[in-house]
Amino acid sequence: MTRHLPACLLILGTVVVAGAYGQGPPPPPPNFVIILADDLGYADVGFNGCRDIPTPHLDAIAANGVRCAQAYASHPFCSPSRAGLLTGRYQQRFGHENNPVYDPDDEQSGLPVSQILLPQMIHGEGYISGAIGKWHLGAAERFHPLNRGFDEFFGFLGGGHQYFPERLGGRTEYTTDLIREREPIKETEYLTDAFSREAVAFIDRRHARRFCLYLAFNAPHTPLQAPPRYLERFASIQDEKRRTYAAMVSALDDGVGRVLDALRRHHIEESTLVFFLSDNGGPVGERSNGSDNRPLRDGKGTTYEGGVRVPFAACWKGVIPAGIVYEPMVSALDIAATIRSQARATVDQDFDGVDLVPYWTRERSGPPHPALYWRTGGGTTFGLRVDALKVVIPPDGTPRLFDLAADASERRDVAADHTEVLRGLLRLRDAWNRQMIQPVFPGRSAKPPARPAAPG
Ligand code: CA
Repeated sequence: MTRHLPACLLILGTVVVAGAYGQGPPPPPPNFVIILADDLGYADVGFNGCRDIPTPHLDAIAANGVRCAQAYASHPFCSPSRAGLLTGRYQQRFGHENNPVYDPDDEQSGLPVSQILLPQMIHGEGYISGAIGKWHLGAAERFHPLNRGFDEFFGFLGGGHQYFPERLGGRTEYTTDLIREREPIKETEYLTDAFSREAVAFIDRRHARRFCLYLAFNAPHTPLQAPPRYLERFASIQDEKRRTYAAMVSALDDGVGRVLDALRRHHIEESTLVFFLSDNGGPVGERSNGSDNRPLRDGKGTTYEGGVRVPFAACWKGVIPAGIVYEPMVSALDIAATIRSQARATVDQDFDGVDLVPYWTRERSGPPHPALYWRTGGGTTFGLRVDALKVVIPPDGTPRLFDLAADASERRDVAADHTEVLRGLLRLRDAWNRQMIQPVFPGRSAKPPARPAAPG
């Protein structure tokens, strides 16, 4: 397809690496830590240029490893994005395209049990896996993390939560007590601090053998809540929403610092691969949490760049060269494929992601993905990127075409100037769609939205 595109619309990804990595025998299978933020804006980390919210610990991941400038979630909102992350497959392949309604009695709304999840992929290689934080992949018992391959769980099963412990103890999605394994517990800390504490405790308990930690903070997803000790850091931010958001991001960054410190303390930095990313872009407009996706267009719920391009960094001391900026597009779908490969697991799974480590170490060249695709609501919106060309089909059904090389903010629709190119890209869309199925559970976002941004 790409050979039919005008040369002016092509961009070649550039890879900047330092050091002679990728030589010699492969490193032993490492531990894995996946740190997920929720609704974090693309521009809201220091390693992507943020100025008003210091994120020294997140920046340290990028400085000690790789920053992926064009990394994408597989979905512009929470639950389907997580389904893609934990399977390494486009979640539309198995009909997980909506946010499940929170209902412990609903046996349909959750990540289909036909799918193999990340901890199941590597269990045979001796990995102990822990999930901490937000689950949002089904509230019924059959979808519980402990029934999906995780050995430990601490967190909540819904799509978001109250942060202050005195607001917990209710029966609704956001107010339930936190759960340890399957039992409700009485939490006493600010939620983000509690998840950081549990992550450190998991590493302290499990560092002597191979482990995989999935640390899914719900910060900085709404409700916007932060205690004074974090708010005080941002007294200079006038906008109240942005100030609280900044405090929430700062608490998350502190927690990441505690996790990185635990790895140092146990001398396992060289045997641990750490990923950090957001599950989707920051919400904008009425639903904004104070996040900033600039210079990207729009936000959560849309297939514009602001909805799907996310902050992404990874480090593995001694294996991934420090300070790389990796430009070709990568996907959150690559994380499971990378972990399966680096753990040398042999589970039979058709991944849409690829092992990124050889790209970062320069053993492999060229872009990891010829194309990436996004679809919501069974086709309500669509997105496709090939090289620097991006097709966006919003709910009105009219395809837009953007050249991200010249127009990163997707301001100038060039569809009318390149009708043949667009037709070719839409044929790719049709071919991809034929491999997918329709949503298997309706969820909240299947109800006709007042606007395209989806809740959750
Ligand atoms: Ca989210």
